[in-house]
Amino acid sequence: MPNPKHKHSKTRNRRDRAVWSKRVETAKTIATCTNPECKQPVLPHHVCLACGTYDGKKVIEIKEKKK
Ligand SMILES: [Zn+2]
Repeated sequence: MPNPKHKHSKTRNRRDRAVWSKRVETAKTIATCTNPECKQPVLPHHVCLACGTYDGKKVIEIKEKKK
């Protein structure tokens, strides 16, 4: 496994984390499902996990949760 040779300083960790969280925030763009019956917020370029639709077509079957 590739491992870091040295422990990172607190400052370095916090600085890196700040940059990362900023990047995540800018990536927070959320599309809405193309299925007019669903309209759930979905990640862009991802299959809607609520109804299994992508680009207006049903791509995956969504199994209802069994309890
Ligand atoms: Zn959907």
